[in-house]
Amino acid sequence: MNYDLVIIGGGPAGYLAAERAGHAGLCVLLIEKRYLGGVCLNEGCIPSKTFLHSAKIYDYAKHGAVYGVEVEHAVFHHKTVLARKEKIVKTLTSGIRNQLTKSKITVVEGKAEILTKTEMGFSVRVNDIEYTGTHLLIATGSVPIIPRLPGLEEGMAHGMVLTNREILDLPDIPASLAIIGGGVIGLEMASYFNSAGCQVTVIEMLDRIASGVDREIAELLRKDYEKKGVRFKLLCKVTAIEENTVIIEGDHGKESIAVEKVLLSIGRKPAIDGLGLERIGVYTERGRIVTDDKGRTNIPQVYAAGDVNGRSMLAHTAYREAEVCVNTMLGKADRMRYHAIPMVLYTNPEVAGVGETEDSAREKGLDTECVTIPMRFSGRYLAENEGGGGICKLIIDKRYRRLVGFHMVANYASEIIFGVGLMIEAEYRVDDLKELVFPHPTVGEVIRDGLFQF
Ligand code: FAD
Repeated sequence: MNYDLVIIGGGPAGYLAAERAGHAGLCVLLIEKRYLGGVCLNEGCIPSKTFLHSAKIYDYAKHGAVYGVEVEHAVFHHKTVLARKEKIVKTLTSGIRNQLTKSKITVVEGKAEILTKTEMGFSVRVNDIEYTGTHLLIATGSVPIIPRLPGLEEGMAHGMVLTNREILDLPDIPASLAIIGGGVIGLEMASYFNSAGCQVTVIEMLDRIASGVDREIAELLRKDYEKKGVRFKLLCKVTAIEENTVIIEGDHGKESIAVEKVLLSIGRKPAIDGLGLERIGVYTERGRIVTDDKGRTNIPQVYAAGDVNGRSMLAHTAYREAEVCVNTMLGKADRMRYHAIPMVLYTNPEVAGVGETEDSAREKGLDTECVTIPMRFSGRYLAENEGGGGICKLIIDKRYRRLVGFHMVANYASEIIFGVGLMIEAEYRVDDLKELVFPHPTVGEVIRDGLFQF
């Protein structure tokens, strides 16, 4: 059968594009080889946040005495957390299936391979059946990077070394866990397993954790987790994995860390292997599909959205890219703007940021001014965070007096950040922003305090 649009991949980019295109009246085929909802719903954003919420409740229960609430025997049941995670994933994925049915999308389960371009469009094979689409959207997402490392393959085969997929299904909390990679995923897992009573060691090649996050904030987070018992091995490289031991090398020489489990989280790469991109000539660069700001590849009518283009690798970016692709197919003016996409680390405390960091502003040669506000300036924050540290930073472009960056380490940051993203996206001037009224008492009020420093 010939479709207006064939979508490969049923993650956030793929299923949202299908819904939008279906609403617009296009005849759409969506192909998914594993499970609808992709990494985000099944083994990424949602499962990890379900875990982290339980950890937060447990932490509050253990440390509630200062707020006048003492829990005598707080017990953490990982198996209950797992079961709840399954329930939530099921609810959300069946919601997606219903939405796709409502939008009259044909869903085919199986691995898609691009065959060729004919007069009818692009032909794609799934389970030995060929389908054709006038437009093709590649939304195959990403997979974990697996480095070549002595002992790694064996460790993975024995279930000692895990990726994000297996760790979110681990039936029990291990006594100890080494996390290779101090990025967002590694740190969120460090947070959960630390709260659950596991001895966590984070091994990071760089001199800092959470690269991409404001340096000072990343350091505050590291110190906070160090106090909670997480060990950090910075400027250290893993050189081998032996039976229940991770061998690392750093400035101080070699060290062996005995652990029960290892989480490999050194990053993700676009999933393009075996797709058949070369058969229709789709241009890739360093393993990612190159797209313009409308999601178009170098081949007319072929689009790519989400992690597969390697641009931002976040679910909310994938959603928006999917919409831009569909709008472009429909002839509606739309384009991606990447300068105000928020990022969040759902640790406890949360970290969120949007726009330039001090480092990135410096690299771009922007003339900026930065103001740091302690979170204790917020009455609500102080009321809810006994002795709470936490800061937020506002970065303005001095020439245009516009907010260009905002970074925060404090709970609720994840819910506040979109508003600041809007301020940056809309290019409001600081003096205009000073006229905004913030609800009181809220944690977000500190933004107003910050604006009045300029
Ligand atoms: P995916 O979600 O990867 O979906 C791609 C789909 O394509 C998959 O279902 C795959 O099976 C399918 N597929 C691949 N090849 C084929 C083929 N040949 N044929 C058919 N189907 C195919 N992002 C956030 O914004 N916030 C978070 O809090 C967050 N937390 C995360 C936590 C973890 C542990 C991980 C791993 C990721 C997290 N992410 C988070 C990133 C987020 O999951 C991704 O950015 C998002 O899933 C990308 O969506 P996508 O549609 O591009 O790809």
